[in-house]
Amino acid sequence: MKYCSTRGQEKNLTFEEVLFSDIIISSLKRFRIPEVVRIEKLKGGINIIELFHGTTLAFKDLALSVVGGLIDHYLSQRNKHIIILIGTSGDTGSAAIEGVRGRKGIDIVVLLPDGRCSMIQELQMTTVTEDNVHVYKVEGTSDDLDEPIKQCFGDQKLVSKHNLISINSINWGRIMVQVAHFFFSYYQLCSNVGAPVEIVVPTGAAGNITAGCIAKKMGLPITLVATVNKNDIISRAIDKGDFSLNSSVTQTLASAMDIQNPYNVERLIYLCCDGDVERTRQIMDEFESKDKVSIPDDILHTLQELIADSMVVSDTAITTTMKTVYAENKYVLCPHTATAVYYHHQRNSDAIRGFIATASPAKFPEAVAKADISPITDGVEHLQDLPTKFLWMRKGEDWHSILCAKIENITKNKDRKV
Ligand SMILES: *Cc1c(COP(=O)(O)O)cnc(C)c1O
Repeated sequence: MKYCSTRGQEKNLTFEEVLFSDIIISSLKRFRIPEVVRIEKLKGGINIIELFHGTTLAFKDLALSVVGGLIDHYLSQRNKHIIILIGTSGDTGSAAIEGVRGRKGIDIVVLLPDGRCSMIQELQMTTVTEDNVHVYKVEGTSDDLDEPIKQCFGDQKLVSKHNLISINSINWGRIMVQVAHFFFSYYQLCSNVGAPVEIVVPTGAAGNITAGCIAKKMGLPITLVATVNKNDIISRAIDKGDFSLNSSVTQTLASAMDIQNPYNVERLIYLCCDGDVERTRQIMDEFESKDKVSIPDDILHTLQELIADSMVVSDTAITTTMKTVYAENKYVLCPHTATAVYYHHQRNSDAIRGFIATASPAKFPEAVAKADISPITDGVEHLQDLPTKFLWMRKGEDWHSILCAKIENITKNKDRKV
């Protein structure tokens, strides 16, 4: 099934609707299966919603490829050019590159911390050779590489001269596309329209579950559950309104969810106080100055109506769940998806349940090996043989100057081409 297979002449869609559906269809063309999303039904009522069939094998491909298509469309209409600048240690960088590679109106500069991404994640970024993709390996941590990026975004003149943008997980376009995950899953899983369905969402920066909350607010009869790894800030916020930073990030097997500050909580608070900007700002100001805030009771109550339950899942539980599901179904879960299925093993229910599968297990060979499952490749093995293209930011160099020079250079070359 396509996201939208109806064409204007059959359904009398408006011009904008036809255009929008064309952008979506062409953005999702590179997905590895024609139906884009597949639901795998395992024993014991476990419905795995496989959102990971994009090129980089994680669910972020869905939103970022469509956002790439939308940006490209509006830029070409206005004859404009932008530069996307991001730092990444996980799946966002590769999915963002994939969403914009080869697009005319966009250049993307990605900084990745050398040796701190998985080998596959790194290759997914460094093997892209299109002219509009610029990847730097940085000799430092992800916190280190955030510095020169912050400096660039703090420079208003630079930002407006070069149309610098960031497409991190609070980007509304991404959330908007992710709302579709929940409508799609609901209609695939419900016994009859109007019957409830529970959807369990592995959660990191809370972008995906925020989209689920918006779908629910739009009237979709879903019950939402958030599962997290040992980085439990979201779970504490939902359970008791305790929105406070842990002292540091804990490394876990579900590494794409190793997040200290889930940026979308601000949006959740905003949704839960009916869009009261002033109140949201007050709460976030307190959080930013003290690294903690207690979510007021009325907002917490609404939040708990939107997200019914949450669970913190340890690495041991992740491994056990991967093993159990493999033994019973010969099906391999990725470690993030395993947190959702662990919830199912802990909390019995008669409800129809769907589990968002955020990545292919092939992307996380270390977790697969820990669960004593033989390696799976899912078509990524060829990455090792492809030519690579990247630049270095070495220790001791002035990374901010390197970045500024790169940005100037990109703009200069664009002007020459036009
Ligand atoms: C990004 C990511 C998540 C977390 O998604 P959020 O929208 O940030 O909550 C979970 N699993 C994988 C594999 C991811 O790449």
